[in-house]
This record gives sequence, structure tokens and C-alpha cells, in this order.
Amino acid sequence: PPLYKQRYQFIKQLVNKHKPKKVADLGCADCRLLWMLKFCNCIEMLVGLDISEDVMKEKMHMLYPLPGDFLQPSERSLTVILHQGSVAQKDPHMLGFDMVTCIELIEHLEIKELEKFPEVVFGFMSPAMIIISTPNSEFNPLLPTVTLFRHPDHKFEWSRAQFQNWALDAAARYDYTVEFTGLGAPPPGKDDVGFCTQIGVFVRKYLKNGEPETVEEYKEHVYKTIFKAVY
Ligand code: SAM
Repeated sequence: PPLYKQRYQFIKQLVNKHKPKKVADLGCADCRLLWMLKFCNCIEMLVGLDISEDVMKEKMHMLYPLPGDFLQPSERSLTVILHQGSVAQKDPHMLGFDMVTCIELIEHLEIKELEKFPEVVFGFMSPAMIIISTPNSEFNPLLPTVTLFRHPDHKFEWSRAQFQNWALDAAARYDYTVEFTGLGAPPPGKDDVGFCTQIGVFVRKYLKNGEPETVEEYKEHVYKTIFKAVY
């Protein structure tokens, strides 16, 4: 399967393994991953965030319940919500999640946004697990059409060392462990370049008990909610 589907599949496997109840996808774009995850029965709250309202609206209708969802009501409740907003901004909507995914998001962030990202996602949202994927620039020489970056909107593409340094620093600062993996194995004889997509899986070291406390200054909602469906 194409690499983007492998990335979604990778997330789905982690969901099936860890059974998170509340999952948020940051930079959810056309909501394809969210649509796949709505079939995972452990999930009770599925939230998407993207800076672009237009890209979310393209296929957002797919997130509405199907007639069958009402004809055969299931035991679990599921709420799907989409917010328009930036990962560089703190909003209490994002507190209390078990898993947060950032698939091919960070390389689209402006420097200022990237600087804010660890504090917002690791520090403020502070979910039990964070999955971040981004291109591995060392693989680029094997991609015939790539000149500078794989996509014109990419602000950077990192080598494994660059990504791992950034990830280890964020993990250490906010009390997470991180393990590195990837998708899209290099062809035989080119193993030294690593995977096409590099992935960091972060796990928060300490359990949080009770309701997430909202710091006074971030009680205000800055995201704009554009979609809500209750199954
Ligand atoms: N995650 C999706 C996937 O794997 O198919 C799509 C990722 S797409 C390459 C990057 C997305 O990040 C775009 O939809 C873009 O609008 C969004 N984005 C860029 N900057 C953002 C920001 N500061 N906050 C939230 N989303 C942002």
C-alpha cells in the first residue's frame, strides 16, 4: 500500500494495542485518519485539529453517523469534533487525551510555530502518548523527482539525527520516553539511509490522576469548532 495508508495503518495498530478512549489528530487535513479511527470501538472521543478550515470541510461529511449507526445502536458512545486552529496555540479543548497523532505535520510549521509546538503538545496537552511522523531527508536521493523538499509547502526536512535530537530534547523536557521507528524500507543495498518516513512514539512517564487541571490563563477557547457529531 502507499506510504500514507501505511502511516494510518501504523496508528490503527497502536490504537488497537493501547485502546485509547480519547484520540486527537493534529493537522488532520481531510480527516481520512479520523474516518478510519471511528471504526475502532475503544475510542469514545475523536478530535481533529487543522489550521485550514477548507481542507477539513472537503470530506468532513464522512464523519457523520451512517443510518446503520442509528439502526444498530452500539454500547459505546462516540463523539467526533473538528476544530480550526493552530498547534502553536493552547486551547482547553485539547486536554485529557490518551493519544495525540501528528502525521506529516511538523515539517509544515513555520519556525515560530515549531518553537511553540513542544510546549503546547507535550507540556500543555500532555497526552499519555504522542506519535509524530515526518520525512527522513536521508531517503530523498532515492526519490527521483525530489529536488529540495518532497512538497513545496515543507519548511524543512530532517535527517534521522536532526529529528532524533529534537525529539529527545522534547521528551526529556516534558517527561516522556521516545522510541524511533519508520515506514517505507529502503531498497536492498541502501539500508544506510533509513526509512522513507521517520516516526517517534512518545509515552508520558507519569500517570496523571483525576481531571486535567486547566491553568487559569488557558481557560479561554481559541479554536473554532466547525463540526460535531454524536453517535
Ligand atoms: N495528517 C494528514 C495526513 O497524514 O494525511 C495530512 C498532513 S498535511 C501534509 C499537513 C497539514 O497540517 C495540512 O492540512 C495543514 O493545513 C496543517 N497545518 C499546517 N500548519 C498547521 C498548524 N500550525 N496547526 C494545525 N495544522 C496545521
